[in-house]
Amino acid sequence: TIPVASLIAFTGLSLNDHNNPYYLQPAELNWQDGVPCASDFGDVYFSRDDGSAESRYVFLDGNQLAERWRALDANKPGRFTICETGFGTGLNFLLAWQLWQQCAPDSWTLHYISCEKHPLNSGDLAKAHQHWPSLASLAAILQHNYPPLIPGHHRRSLGERGPHIDLLFGDIADTLPALIDSIGSHPDSSPRPVDAWFLDGFAPSANPGMWQASLFDAMARLSKPNASFATFTAAGIVKRGLRERGFTVTKAKGFGRKRDMLVGHFSAAQPDTEPALPPSPLPWHQPAATASVHSVVVVGAGLAGCTTARALAERGLRVTLIERRANPAEEASGNPQGMLYTKLSPEPGLLNVFTLHSFLYALHHYHRIASNSDAIDGEFCGVLQLANSPREAALFKRLQQQLAEHHWLQFVDRDRASALSGIDIRQDGIFYPAAGWLSPPSVCKERIAHPNIALLTNSEALSLLDHGDHWQIIGSGQHPIAEGDAVVIANSHDATQFSQSAFLPLRKIRGQISYFRQQDVQTPPRCVVCHKGYVAPEHKQQLCIGASFDLHNANSEVTAEDHAYNLNTLAGLSPKLLKPGSEAIGGRAALRCASPDYAPIVGALPDIEAFDNDYAALRKDARRAIDQPGRYVRNCYVNVAHGSRGLTSTPLAAELLAAYLCNESRPLPKQLCESLSPARFIIRDLMRSKR
Ligand code: SAM
Repeated sequence: TIPVASLIAFTGLSLNDHNNPYYLQPAELNWQDGVPCASDFGDVYFSRDDGSAESRYVFLDGNQLAERWRALDANKPGRFTICETGFGTGLNFLLAWQLWQQCAPDSWTLHYISCEKHPLNSGDLAKAHQHWPSLASLAAILQHNYPPLIPGHHRRSLGERGPHIDLLFGDIADTLPALIDSIGSHPDSSPRPVDAWFLDGFAPSANPGMWQASLFDAMARLSKPNASFATFTAAGIVKRGLRERGFTVTKAKGFGRKRDMLVGHFSAAQPDTEPALPPSPLPWHQPAATASVHSVVVVGAGLAGCTTARALAERGLRVTLIERRANPAEEASGNPQGMLYTKLSPEPGLLNVFTLHSFLYALHHYHRIASNSDAIDGEFCGVLQLANSPREAALFKRLQQQLAEHHWLQFVDRDRASALSGIDIRQDGIFYPAAGWLSPPSVCKERIAHPNIALLTNSEALSLLDHGDHWQIIGSGQHPIAEGDAVVIANSHDATQFSQSAFLPLRKIRGQISYFRQQDVQTPPRCVVCHKGYVAPEHKQQLCIGASFDLHNANSEVTAEDHAYNLNTLAGLSPKLLKPGSEAIGGRAALRCASPDYAPIVGALPDIEAFDNDYAALRKDARRAIDQPGRYVRNCYVNVAHGSRGLTSTPLAAELLAAYLCNESRPLPKQLCESLSPARFIIRDLMRSKR
């Protein structure tokens, strides 16, 4: 277990003064002639005269974005990253996005990272956007995808080609260092993602807390060589702070009646300007930047493999997806109805952060896909999660106190639960209106329909050979079946077949679902209901219920015992849902893959021998500080162990893997990356003297 105190700085989901890990103080506004003004800072979000002209002048022109974007090489894929201090109304973001659409080549993606301590609530956001009719269509997309006001890192993709936006909700003094921490603190080998800085935030005199040394340190650490910055202020503290860290700083004419502002560039870090970062006591999770990767082989075309393939393909990488079956999603991702569900907890804790953020990201992700394509079979009919024990009911009560203001979930009593679901329910629950069920095979097919993805079916990868500059995948008869600069192992428990991932402690959990005739259903459910099992609304004239859970049986035959188990569990929920004597007309059994701590396994594969040597001292002293960054297998990654929540967890896991492979900033804080990392098992075993 990780002490709560150390969670505070990193996860953004920590116990705070309100004893509520989900609490965030929203912006407190007063409106002056329709312009939002922050009551606690006594400053406006944008100029009363012409807010959008000022933003364009200071931030877009100050960073020379139009010229730079027109000069990008249209023949290559690429990513341009802006980092902003103070998201506010999103005006700067919307203007940058609009300009990007006008100037940047299609092969490039805009990545916009913005820090915000007091986000506007969605009503205020929409009200502020009314000022700019020319931005209305982009503003509507932003409003639609705006994350709930919860601390932490929220990634959103606002279109097929982006922009990708990372909203870091929390104090910049915590969130920027956490972002650095997640990509590794090594000045030479860790990624440097940022091309341009928008230093907004209220004036240093009104908001000295923001313009601290830690901000300038973070800028020096995250900037690419020659990254630009622009800011409306010309305050001495900003000028000095940036110069001391290797930025050239120039005074420019301010907007309108304002005299000065500052613009400049980061000259490649000098040893004496590189900020001293506190050394990590055990830097095993400091993956160095990946050598440039253009092609990737992904092994396994289930949800994990298909979402990973798509995340890489959208970044311009060529992907070969290898599948031993005749079609994608024929094994554990093959159920006709997968539930988009989560189990939140009122406690702060790493896995709870992942549970929450992967769920919110998955909702956003699937709604975005569904709004652009009808290729995915499913229904956002809502998911009702019921309290299965007095302990769970007590947890729900605490969650209700913590999340009372939120609209993406509703706490419902048994009457409301019955009305929502259409069946007679006797427990209280939580209703997630935007969730539902999706067909995982249709998700897989939709995800891999991309020109950069080649699917090789009926091809079983049997071993993976690193030739130093590329990977070769060997199939039956020792024949090479694919090659790539990097490889991602996403074939569930069969990952242990490969020498590189043989150490993973994967478990097989058998699960069976049962189908019933529509005529046998007395009270058809209107939404997904998760209780000790689950039941989904009818689909293709059948009712599907699930799922058994067996850790000790690796057989994937459909059995009568498991049908009986599923029926019994359903009867515990609602004895009248099916007509008496109804019998299953079929079913499907598959083996889910889980890890011992039930967290997915996502990240670079460790070089086991090197770990055993480098961290040998942990066997004697688990708290020993060892100043040796982890050594990893070259360009070799894994994405497995999503258990029964693959629909929910794979979209964010795929973003994390793509961030590793493409040297982007990570969508999750470092400690969470660590708790998903495959190397965690080696470190834990060394600490417990088990290896
Ligand atoms: N860029 C914004 C826009 O386009 O609307 C305007 C930003 S507004 C002038 C300044 C923002 O900085 C506010 O939203 C405020 O909540 C945020 N802010 C102030 N102090 C902060 C801090 N310490 N950490 C993160 N955000 C902060």
